[in-house]
Order: sequence, then C-alpha cells, then structure tokens
Amino acid sequence: MPIRQLPDTMINQIAAGEVVERPASVVKELVENALDAGATRIEVATAGGGLGLIRVIDDGAGIAPDEMALAVGRHCTSKLDADINDIHTLGFRGEALPSIGSVARLSIRSRTADADTGSEIRVEGGVASPVKPAATNRGTTVEVRDLFYATPARLKFMKGPRAEAAAVTDVVKRIAMAFPSVRFTLSGSDRSTLELSPAIGDEAARKRIAQVLGDEFIDNALPVDAMREGVRLTGYISIPSYSRATAQQQYAFVNGRLIRDKLVAGAMRGAFADILPRDRHAVTALFFWLDPADVDVNVHPAKADVRFRDPGRVRGLIIGAVRETLAGAGIRASTSAASAMMDAFRPEGAAPQAPAAWRQPYSPPPGGFAEAGQALFEAGPVISAPVAEASDDTSLKDAPLGAARAQIHENYIVAQTADSLVIVDQHAAHERLVYEALKRGLESRPVAAQMLLIPEVIDMPEEDAERLATHSELFGRLGLGLERFGPGAIAVRETPAMLGDTDVAGLVRDLADEIAEHDTAETLRERLNKVAATMACHGSVRSGRRLKPDEMNALLREMEATPGSGTCNHGRPTYIELKLGDIERLFGRR
Ligand code: ADP
Ligand code: MG
Repeated sequence: MPIRQLPDTMINQIAAGEVVERPASVVKELVENALDAGATRIEVATAGGGLGLIRVIDDGAGIAPDEMALAVGRHCTSKLDADINDIHTLGFRGEALPSIGSVARLSIRSRTADADTGSEIRVEGGVASPVKPAATNRGTTVEVRDLFYATPARLKFMKGPRAEAAAVTDVVKRIAMAFPSVRFTLSGSDRSTLELSPAIGDEAARKRIAQVLGDEFIDNALPVDAMREGVRLTGYISIPSYSRATAQQQYAFVNGRLIRDKLVAGAMRGAFADILPRDRHAVTALFFWLDPADVDVNVHPAKADVRFRDPGRVRGLIIGAVRETLAGAGIRASTSAASAMMDAFRPEGAAPQAPAAWRQPYSPPPGGFAEAGQALFEAGPVISAPVAEASDDTSLKDAPLGAARAQIHENYIVAQTADSLVIVDQHAAHERLVYEALKRGLESRPVAAQMLLIPEVIDMPEEDAERLATHSELFGRLGLGLERFGPGAIAVRETPAMLGDTDVAGLVRDLADEIAEHDTAETLRERLNKVAATMACHGSVRSGRRLKPDEMNALLREMEATPGSGTCNHGRPTYIELKLGDIERLFGRR
C-alpha cells in the first residue's frame, strides 16, 4: 500500500482511542470543558451507563456561533496562548470534541452571555453538519449519543451499563472534589440521583470531601497544610486506624486536576510505611498547588499523568507533611528495630548463605523460656502448662517447625526444632491457612455459611453497594450472603463459617474496594481467589488471642501440611527461623 495522508475522521478516531476510552472518559472531558468555561452549575445525565446517552449542561461562558465549527475541529482550542508550559486550564489539547464526534453522535447547543440567540452543531461519525441558530439558555449543552457506534471494536470492550454507570459516578465525584464551589448533579434512568450542593468559605473543601468520601472519612481524617519551596499541599489524610485494603482511595490533584501519579503514590507509601502494615493503605485527598511552569501535564492525551519539574521536592513535601500531621495528632511511628537482629532473623531461604551446622549443642538453662515468659505474662495458661509430654516433645522437635514452647505478645508462637528457634506470626499464618481452605472449598462445594441472627446493614457509597450486589452470586459461593438494602446500603445475612466472629462491615468495605480495583475482564477464578484472600484476612486469628499449647502445635502442623504457608496472602513471611549458629553469632560466641 502506498503511503497516504489519513482522512480527518480516521485521525480523530485514532486520537479517540486514547482520549475516549469509555463513557466515563467522555464525561470527564465534558465536565472539564464546563469547568474551564467557568460554570457554577454542571448537570450530568446518562442513560445505558453513558453508552446510550451522556448529556452535560453548564452555565459557563458558552461558545459564540462563529466559533462553533472550530470547537469541533481538530487541534482547535481557546485555552493555549503562546506557552505550552503555562497551562491554567484543565483542557489544552483541542482534541476531546473532535474525538468524541468521530466515534459517536455529538450535538452542542450553546449561547454566550452577550448574545440573544444561541447556535447548534452536530457531528456524527466524524461528519459535521452546518451550524444552525438554536434557542437555548446561557451556557452549553453537550449531548453524546450511541457512543462507539462508529467503532464497534471498542464497543465490545465495554463492561455493561451498570459498570459504566458506576465509573461515571466515580469520575464526577473525583473531579467534584477539587471544585467545591460548583454545584454538580448526576442523574439518569440508569442511576439514583447524586446532588453535590456548592460549598463556600473556609470549610468548603472539607464539606465537599465529606460529601464525596463520606462523613465517616472526614471524622477519621486529619487536615494537612504544608508549604515547601513554592509548592503548597492541602487536604486530608486518614488516621492510621482508618485504613483500607487497597490504595484506590488515595486521591491527588495538581492545581485542581485529578492525577494518577507513581511518585505521589510511592511517597504516600513511604510516609505511612512506619505506621501502617504493608497491606493497608491510608485514605487521602491531597491537593498540590504550584506554578504551572513547574509541572508538565502534557504527558498523555488523557491528561492524568504529570511530571513534576522537581520530583524530589514534591516527594519531600508529601513525606514531611504527612509525618508532621500525624505527629501533631500524637501518632508516632515506632522505628527502632535493631538492625543486627533483623539481619539475622531472615525467613527461611532468604539468607544469602545458610549458616554452617551449629558447633555447640543447644541446651537452654532449664526453665529459661518459662521464666522470661512468666515475667511478661503473669501465669498465663500458655506458659504454666507443659507444652507437650516429654516423648511427644522429642518427636515434635524433628518436625520442620518444631515444638511450640510459648506464645509471646499474644501473637508470636516460639517453637524449638533440633537446630533452630522458630517464631511464627500466628495471625499471618492463620490467614494463609484460611485462604488455602477457602480456595480448596471453592473447588469442591460451596463454602459453609453461618446465618447472622440479625442481618447486618452496612451503609456505603452507592457505587460500592452496586458493585457488591452485582457480584453477590460470587460471594455466595464463598459463604458470604449479601444483598441490596435500598440505595447506598447492603444487608449481610450469612458469613463464611470458617471466619468465625468477624467484623462484617470491615470485611464488606474491603471487598468493595477489592472489586472496584480489580473490576476488569478477569476470570472468575482470579476474582474468587482475590475475594478469598480478602476474606481470609478478616477471619484470621487476630493477634491478641491466647492459644493453648495444643492449638499452637496444631497450627504448626497445619502449616507444615499446607503448601505455600510460608508466606501470608500478602507475601510476608508467616514465620522466621533463627538457626542456633546465628544466635551464637549474635552473642559473639562465634
Ligand atoms: P480543549 O478543551 O482542549 O480546548 P475541546 O475539544 O475539549 O478541547 O474543546 C474545544 C474548545 O471548545 C475549547 O477550547 C472551548 O473553547 C470550547 N468549548 C468546549 N466545551 C465548552 C463548554 N462547555 N463551554 C464553553 N466552551 C467550550
Ligand atoms: Mg476539553
């Protein structure tokens, strides 16, 4: 085929591939246009999850009749003056409207403040009709019908109206967080109406975040306000006890633009590293304000990626601000693990070189462990009872994880093998065992469920409730019986028996996060496994439960019999083994 210049429609469809991924991305572009036009009210309506119809009405500056045709032309924008490094608007690429027009049926009606009449233009599958006069209010109404009718291949990738409707809600809420003074309404036959009334004054940001993320978040959050070398950081971070199973609820905005950024995500992890376990994540809404010249937003057509000119400064700002905020609230990280000990205490197999066989036979002074234990735990049943009969004890010591000797800090089982000391994190170990059992259960028959005496009703954002309800059959197979309970609530009737008494609300919220993060074209099996992992986490013997010697030994034996039990579901070790040789090194005996 000879080389030829592509026709405009095809060029626009190619651009649409990146800009218009799904209905939610159309809504994002149209709402951004309304905000750039200075709107104070934005009404979004959808049908069929946005695949049938998306309508965005604003009361902004409007488009003059003689600019209508330009607005839908490629590379036409009113937002870039001379300098690509000085962007004060959300849009600037001039490609959203032509891209949308190339894959759907687009109509725009608009009137500027000083004009008596408005005008209208239509674009269908990339073909624009002439501009016509039209009666309309001040502002702009954009309608997008039959999204992707012109690109059926893309249409096939849509997840169905419910999931698309939920994604639209998500995007509207996220954008709204940064514009508290704008009234947002989201309605349609495919959803219950969301109304975000405008907030003004000092408390505006706080009120809007409460509207979007819920009062529960704001009640458990600390305000952040910090400044470093010209970058200001404001917003809210959750207190450590209000953490989530995924980092999905970490929102970051740069000059009002919702961004997705590895640097920010990494800095958040770093800032909370000493305070939260590795598999828990803070909920955050952080707003960066800086000179537009110090951040490049022209990284990807969707404009969600940014590059900071000085990433180190931003990272330092985040970590410093989060730590100060937490410390100011009296929350301090404990970071004093003796590093020499940590080096010696490696999970089995992780040591660069296994120590040579021990030279001196291991013979602790009789009662050594017990004495230390009694000092710590009074006369708890674990310590005062002999762990096993002498004969059993000898045989147990040959088992890979040895014989349980004590439980310390009500979470760590100390066991003795022939040539080492083993410390088991009982919570992590049990979590893994429950996970493996759930997975086994999935292969054979439904997992046993226990009825709750009174169904537990859990309030949550509508999208979360919707997502959970959509997957209720899947949860049912794992023994979790739940159903819709009116708008924005879920009723739980049964929980998996093997979880025992569990924090049902916490479990269900974590599952909602899990589903939201992985709501892709995953296989059922992968999805079930993830759900099982989240459930296992809730069912585990939480630290703090005293175990009887038999229970401890049973746990060790079960670990030995379960493949993969050496790490918990999050990849942390469930036990560490300290060879006698290492202990001797620690005491300077070798
Ligand atoms: P961009 O936003 O990058 O400029 P778009 O294709 O989204 O590109 O829009 C093209 C132009 O149409 C904008 O620059 C703006 O002048 C005009 N426009 C689009 N939507 C609106 C709106 N809701 N109100 C006023 N003007 C608008
Ligand atoms: Mg735009």
